[in-house]
Amino acid sequence: MLEESYDQLIKLHGYVNKPIAPAIDLYREIQKLKVEKNAVILGHYYITAELQDISDFLGDSLALAQQAQKTEADMILFVGVHFMGETAKILNPNKKVIVPDMNAGCSLAESAPADKFQIFKDQYPDHKIISYINCSAEIKALSDVIVTSSNAVKIVESFPKDQPLIFAPDKNLGNYINSITGREMVLWDGACMVHEKYSLEKIVALMDEHPQAVFIAHPECEQPVLLVADFIGSTTALLNYVEKSDKNKFIVATESGILHQMQKNCPSKIFIAAPSIDSTCGCNDCSFMKLNTLQKLYLALKYERPEILLEPDILEKAKIPILRMLELS
Ligand code: SF4
Repeated sequence: MLEESYDQLIKLHGYVNKPIAPAIDLYREIQKLKVEKNAVILGHYYITAELQDISDFLGDSLALAQQAQKTEADMILFVGVHFMGETAKILNPNKKVIVPDMNAGCSLAESAPADKFQIFKDQYPDHKIISYINCSAEIKALSDVIVTSSNAVKIVESFPKDQPLIFAPDKNLGNYINSITGREMVLWDGACMVHEKYSLEKIVALMDEHPQAVFIAHPECEQPVLLVADFIGSTTALLNYVEKSDKNKFIVATESGILHQMQKNCPSKIFIAAPSIDSTCGCNDCSFMKLNTLQKLYLALKYERPEILLEPDILEKAKIPILRMLELS
């Protein structure tokens, strides 16, 4: 097949959409291809359970960026969403970084288009720009430092108190950090479509139904939800919390993929996905994360596509604030 035909398939479907013979054992083939190509699979906690289990390294954005920085593999297959693949590419410009499906974007990253952000930034010439890792490579290139929900408070506090700051793109996380640090960061008006969908009313009703349950939430949730939470933390902090806690039941307000790891780490404990405003769904799934499938993962490894490619100047500029974050973490 011609190179252009692969590109056309990617343009059309977001991945090399070719039929897979039903007799193929995808798990075996993936292991084989990984060895042949010296590839590593990095997976985020929000992907499906079967993809979590096939990943070589599973983690939150910070852990995966750290892993991408130190990998010795020639090829990185990033199973998460597009900005995560970009981060891996920025840290490994000479390596091939592929993703299962180019359509796996992120509502939060998309809420901050670079041209609009540049205009916003120009209004605050004295401000330093702190950007949450959930943003495009172009926004990273416009930032002074990147943070994740694991290290955001620490990095914000590393700036002198009189240094004015902009936080982008997640207003909920920004609000939360402002409340913890007493800063008054100017916030970009972006949000995650998953975390802003939790229903406070239904959560409170669920807490009444399960009075022994501990309610834990990710700081991307809206403030009213965070106000009733017993514990607020990054994905990793939530995982650690439930593991160390002497309690048995938890209501969890973050993407439901995390429940798989919680259940694996704590088989005797009970985890309930916090309800969203959409009553036809009992949990909150990130539709972008769930675009990743075993079949697409196999096709990506086999055809080494779709590949994350970035302009050299974006690669160079975006690397600086990411490295700053990794140093400060
Ligand atoms: S859960 Fe939200 S922030 Fe995370 S990838 Fe999905 S849309 Fe983006």
